[in-house]
Amino acid sequence: MINVTKTYLPPQDRYLAILNRAWQKGWITNNGELVLELETALRQTLQVPHLLYSSNGTVVLQMALKSLGYTSGEIITTPYSYVATAHSIQWEGFTPVFADIDATTYCINPALVEAAITPRTRAILATHVYGMPCNTNALEAIGHKYQLPVIYDGAHAFGSRWQGKSLLSFGNMSTCSFHATKIFHTVEGGCIISHDAKLSAQLEGYRQFGHKGDDHYSIGINGKNSELHAAMGLAILPDMPALIAERKQLFEQYEQLLQGLPLQLLQPTAIAGLDWNYAYFPVLFDTEATMQQVKTALETAGIFPRRYFYPALNTLPFYGPTAACPIAESVASRMLCLPFYNGLDAAVVERIAAIIRDCL
Ligand SMILES: *Cc1c(COP(=O)(O)O)cnc(C)c1O
Repeated sequence: MINVTKTYLPPQDRYLAILNRAWQKGWITNNGELVLELETALRQTLQVPHLLYSSNGTVVLQMALKSLGYTSGEIITTPYSYVATAHSIQWEGFTPVFADIDATTYCINPALVEAAITPRTRAILATHVYGMPCNTNALEAIGHKYQLPVIYDGAHAFGSRWQGKSLLSFGNMSTCSFHATKIFHTVEGGCIISHDAKLSAQLEGYRQFGHKGDDHYSIGINGKNSELHAAMGLAILPDMPALIAERKQLFEQYEQLLQGLPLQLLQPTAIAGLDWNYAYFPVLFDTEATMQQVKTALETAGIFPRRYFYPALNTLPFYGPTAACPIAESVASRMLCLPFYNGLDAAVVERIAAIIRDCL
């Protein structure tokens, strides 16, 4: 069985050697040595001083939204993302207001963001879909003009560089997920990046129930992560450049084998200023029927692509009445992410491409 993704695992002895340090100390969570070391390594790798390692990519979205200081209002967001983006908004008591996406980058369209601003708007929450950058210049200019924080859900963005720096270093805050299905992972995990010491201290407080010892200074939640998780991150982090290089080769192999077919692929090299992380291999078909036909043919062969992201979030019934987002709805209905992971066999890529070619 070939799935859309397969978790990269480091050499087991490397992981165990790192984990052994926690064992020796008898300290396995609450800001242990390995968590602190991973945080330092991530700050250096991404060149962001205020990064907090956390338990997952959802709780950091909730913390970012909590830090806005409101209990109601509207957050303008994308209909084309994983459900965690919009769920976090609703979970924190805000109303998600969906602004449609750009048809080529699949990221939120800044002109539609600006058109959606009302006196109740509290922030903009945009996703760097597939690790491709949002139009950060336009979004941040809008944020500046209307005094609205810009938050990025960078769950896919680890390893992408944009305009000379990490894609996770943009906006007022950026979050990332280190879930086992993501390009860099710590089994479960995530982080939040901010750009001033005061906000970072506030987020750090949220991460540990809003208190340090007997000193209680805000409400909080449990956003901490453990030594077992941090050890996985420390074991994988040095491999990241080689892992991304291998993914680039797989991408180019798929690209070549699918050439000339009526489908649309990501064009990372056409975007000036982008050094992409090759996180996913999404294929946009002309119609939903074609997408379904390909999906069924692959499944019959024991290959399981995924409909990332389906359905468009504005069509879910959880967020109250929402405006139509025709581009996101159309893209969501026709997109299929093909198996794409480190260790994927070149012969399997050939088989997948052959099946698609047969269908089309
Ligand atoms: C995976 C993902 C999340 C959630 O991350 P978890 O670590 O699984 O909580 C949020 N947003 C997007 C876009 C994601 O892909």
